Amino acid sequence: MFHRHILRTCLFPSRMARLGRLPPVSRAQSPLCTGSDEVRLAEEASRKYGPQAPTIFSKVLDKSIPADIIYEDDKCLAFRDISPQAPVHFLVIPRIAIPRISQAHDDDAELLGHLLLVAKNVAEQQSLTEGYRVVINDGKHGAQSVHHLHVHVLGGRQMTWPPG
Ligand code: AMP
Repeated sequence: MFHRHILRTCLFPSRMARLGRLPPVSRAQSPLCTGSDEVRLAEEASRKYGPQAPTIFSKVLDKSIPADIIYEDDKCLAFRDISPQAPVHFLVIPRIAIPRISQAHDDDAELLGHLLLVAKNVAEQQSLTEGYRVVINDGKHGAQSVHHLHVHVLGGRQMTWPPG
């Protein structure tokens, strides 16, 4: 079931076409998530994770601010970080506003797995053949600044450990 879902969303040719470097797509051009879908997802997020203020990523999702979107499907979006910390630095975010990884529920497992597979597929498309780093910051100690769960993918240079 999970594999069928991944195949449908990540490997179906029309979705694969979106793996190329795309200019920002207006909502009218994108059939993947309509305005009513966004309202439904916001209500679902509020019910599931508690009331929350919209973040800057809500505006990226509804295309009301520009973003360099490099992949999207019906569950998530990947776009370049506005303040890149590596030659390649993009974020993968779910369409539903899970505030932080520590607030994810057991039934988010399929979505969380999907975000990681999209991170992997887009990293491959971005030619990160020598490896890359995948980071999820959580809360104050994790230095999370935007409270909409996001997976950072950084690559194109040698990383060091431990992180700061
Ligand atoms: P974090 O500190 O883990 O919450 O990461 C938030 C990331 O979002 C930072 O790396 C920011 O540079 C990035 N960011 C904030 N606003 C935007 C935006 N409008 N478009 C792209 N990336 C953004």
